[in-house]
Amino acid sequence: MGTKSCLDCGMLVPEDIRRCPKCDNQLDRQTDGSTLTIDIAHQGENVSEAMRKLEAQVSDARRGVAQNLRVIVGSGAIRDAAIARVADYERRQVIVAHQLEGNNAGAILVKLK
Ligand SMILES: [Zn+2]
Repeated sequence: MGTKSCLDCGMLVPEDIRRCPKCDNQLDRQTDGSTLTIDIAHQGENVSEAMRKLEAQVSDARRGVAQNLRVIVGSGAIRDAAIARVADYERRQVIVAHQLEGNNAGAILVKLK
């Protein structure tokens, strides 16, 4: 189990703690405003492998401090499945929001926090 710092008071706390014991800040809502980029479509993944990657990366990213996750989905079946999956995450409030990036949308921007 790793540790992380509270962005508000700097206290070092275990990674899985949700509230800072020192300043009571809600740690799982803290963000440094950064964007992580992942690619789930360009290493020969089939759709179910791509969805497993997406799920694992979203879950990892939500434990970190990044605000956004940019998911490169390419075109075709992985893209369609990824769009459906993040729409489902949004409905279940796993993520805050999502949007397709630009007009030809080979990427989805996911707002985590
Ligand atoms: Zn704190």
